[in-house]
Amino acid sequence: YAAKRSGGATYCFYDNRIDGARRRLTMITRLRRAVADEALYPVFQPVRDLNDNRITGFEALARWHDPELGQVPPTDFIAIAERSPLIDDLFDSILRQSLEAAVTWYVERDGPGRQLAVNIAARQLRDPQLTDRIVTAADRIGHPIGLICAELTETAMMDDEETAHQTLAAMSEAGIGVYIDDFGVGYSNVARLTDLASAGILAGIKVDRRFIADPAEPRTTALLQLFRHMSETFGAEIVIEGIETDEHLEVARRMGYRLGQGWHLGRPVAADLARASIET
Ligand code: C2E
Ligand code: MG
Ligand code: MG
Ligand code: MG
Repeated sequence: YAAKRSGGATYCFYDNRIDGARRRLTMITRLRRAVADEALYPVFQPVRDLNDNRITGFEALARWHDPELGQVPPTDFIAIAERSPLIDDLFDSILRQSLEAAVTWYVERDGPGRQLAVNIAARQLRDPQLTDRIVTAADRIGHPIGLICAELTETAMMDDEETAHQTLAAMSEAGIGVYIDDFGVGYSNVARLTDLASAGILAGIKVDRRFIADPAEPRTTALLQLFRHMSETFGAEIVIEGIETDEHLEVARRMGYRLGQGWHLGRPVAADLARASIET
């Protein structure tokens, strides 16, 4: 009542909040159904060798198009799915579809193995079955487990560090490559990374795209070198994200980066296009 009486602007605000709450509820219901119906699907973005431009692997990124809500960004629906065990079903669905696509590329092309990276949500680090889920799916589909990488953000590892460490150790033990995603923009805890590296768990680091966004800035080159030296100290692979221009590519190469990802190197695309982009 108060909102309505006090005028147009306030009324609008009140109305927006109702819409926001309703949209969120609608989203939860529809996401649950979409996951059950396997309506979510992966797209694949290449990771390339910056020196010879060859594709060394793909990152699977989840997509959801809802007839009513339209294209919902993954950050939105992952945040919702992660509040409940729905994230496990979502992950299983995306993982299965990604492995099924990737295994045909390798078998039919008979080329060198390429990595398949999947993203792991924070909540999943508390799932004692996580490694089993991945290993079982890979075995059933016939995808080499050693070519699978799991990407986790620094922030995901923050809550319940001990459980997170155990989960990562189990994945690594099974042959899955453990990568830190969006490095440098979360709670960068170098001591934690050191622990993971000492335990032989850390396979690689993906540097957040913010660090290459301003290539002319002297700090950019200094930080990129610092991160690369750090990864060498850890014996870990390093990937630079967000290569959007020739200039980005040039700077990344000059700073000694071997691997990169970004729009300039290839957008995320559907499975058939990803497959067609692999060099014979
Ligand atoms: P991410 O794992 O760091 O993935 C990289 C994001 O950057 C993707 O956004 C990708 O499309 C985008 N990107 C790639 N190259 C460029 C570039 O050159 N410039 C810019 N500006 N962006 C670029 P997307 O697909 O919207 O995914 C956003 C985030 O959602 C992902 O970040 C990841 O954290 C999460 N996500 C996506 N799929 C899944 C999933 O299946 N499971 C989980 N748990 N999270 C997922
Ligand atoms: Mg990722
Ligand atoms: Mg990332
Ligand atoms: Mg990101």
